[in-house]
Amino acid sequence: MDQFDVVIVGASFSGLTLAHHLPQQYKVLVIDSKPSAGSTVESTGLITSKTRQEFLSFFPIDDYITNRISSICVVSPNFQDHFISSLDHPWIYQTDTKG
Ligand SMILES: Cc1cc2nc3c(=O)[nH]c(=O)nc-3n(C[C@H](O)[C@H](O)[C@H](O)COP(=O)(O)OP(=O)(O)OC[C@H]3O[C@@H](n4cnc5c(N)ncnc54)[C@H](O)[C@@H]3O)c2cc1C
Repeated sequence: MDQFDVVIVGASFSGLTLAHHLPQQYKVLVIDSKPSAGSTVESTGLITSKTRQEFLSFFPIDDYITNRISSICVVSPNFQDHFISSLDHPWIYQTDTKG
């Protein structure tokens, strides 16, 4: 490990995003206890508009978007409280996770 400037524990969204954005001159080691990269990423395939923009710079993510969502409702576990957030344009995108 002495030959690396940065060691990141966890090769999921946070760890890989950090590794991607670190200055290129850094020698970076990313380690994870899972058996292979991407093997246990938890996602139902929902991405925000910001993530969609990031993806578009290197991947045709729009080919895999199945639903554009402009309103969400969050309900508390006891069903007593909720809020609805609605915009006049989509900000969450459902992707085809099989793809
Ligand atoms: C069922 C489900 C569906 C979801 N769907 C969505 C969705 O559609 N859209 C969305 O935006 N978010 C979704 N989420 C939330 C999303 O999964 C989390 O926000 C995201 O995974 C958090 O990323 P993270 O890198 O912080 O942590 P994690 O994804 O939990 O990554 C932590 C990593 O660290 C590794 N690790 C932990 N401890 C050690 C150790 N001691 N040594 C080595 N490695 C270690 C783990 O193996 C793991 O790979 C969903 C979550 C769940 C549970």
